[in-house]
Amino acid sequence: MTTHPIDLAGPHAAIAEILARWARNAQTEAERATDAADAKRYRAEAERFRKALYQWSSGARVQLAPGDGYLIPSASRGAVHLTTLHSCSCEAGSNGLRCWHRPIVEAIVEAADDWEPAAESQPLGDRLAAARRAYWR
Ligand SMILES: [Zn+2]
Repeated sequence: MTTHPIDLAGPHAAIAEILARWARNAQTEAERATDAADAKRYRAEAERFRKALYQWSSGARVQLAPGDGYLIPSASRGAVHLTTLHSCSCEAGSNGLRCWHRPIVEAIVEAADDWEPAAESQPLGDRLAAARRAYWR
């Protein structure tokens, strides 16, 4: 079994830090944008990252779904959504919109890349598998 310094802080903290960084970056882009449509898009993205961070920090935890994807509890309706890097079964996701569930999955994958630097050159399926191994070990 391998060990890594990030384990000392815990993957939950690492994922929260990634979501916080993405929220700050999107907010900064919104403030810098000269085009109103761009500013609106970045503000919405920042809001999604903040919501993901809030839910994650409030204890929302994902579970592996058999096959592909992650199960993430809904914040409001007692439902559970199936979320991957590219899709989500929630209302927004079903309508082709980005929701706050997907950034959580993206942050898990990003954190796993930090734990296993060599993983970046691997196919996405392998990276997702590595993310799962890193998160659930
Ligand atoms: Zn969703």
